[in-house]
Amino acid sequence: MAGGTEDIEALIDIMAKLPGLGPRSARRAVLHLIKKRALLMQPLAQTMGHVAATARECLTCGNIGTSDQCSICTSDARANGQICVVEDVADLWAMERGASFKGRYHVLGGTLSALDDVGPEDLRIPRLLTRISDETITEVILALNATVDGQTTAHYIAGELEGSGVTVSSLAQGVPVGGELDYLDDGTISAALRARKAF
Ligand SMILES: [Zn+2]
Repeated sequence: MAGGTEDIEALIDIMAKLPGLGPRSARRAVLHLIKKRALLMQPLAQTMGHVAATARECLTCGNIGTSDQCSICTSDARANGQICVVEDVADLWAMERGASFKGRYHVLGGTLSALDDVGPEDLRIPRLLTRISDETITEVILALNATVDGQTTAHYIAGELEGSGVTVSSLAQGVPVGGELDYLDDGTISAALRARKAF
């Protein structure tokens, strides 16, 4: 970069590692930030420092927030008996953007995988089963990937819940999940939720 300093180059290199940004967009973003230093860059740096120090996983559901319990788990209004099981935090956030799901979530943190040697204990599956009995859950909505591993995981969870009296359903087919929910518009997510079916 012509006339650039090492520090600015270093910042561009870091920014270029962000999803959706390459070196070119990173350079544009950094230039914009520097031009808007007081309005944008300083508040951003401050907020980033704060979140870097405080961000953590919710001990109950695995959502990412800045306290031990996320706002969804602490909200009484979300205790409607429904729990939506997702693979990744990005899926949870995408569902929230749709604003049509009124229950709580459970983030597994991946899927079962024989190939990668991922078993139920490696995911938040034991925690999910505890929550289902502790929180008087009546319906578990599986919003897992349509891949072999996603479906293996869905079948495993459904199997564990057999005979428990809990309704198990899944989002309408054809919805890509596993971080991919994020690419759907909010209306599509809401429609997939409404069209969910017994698993
Ligand atoms: Zn939570």
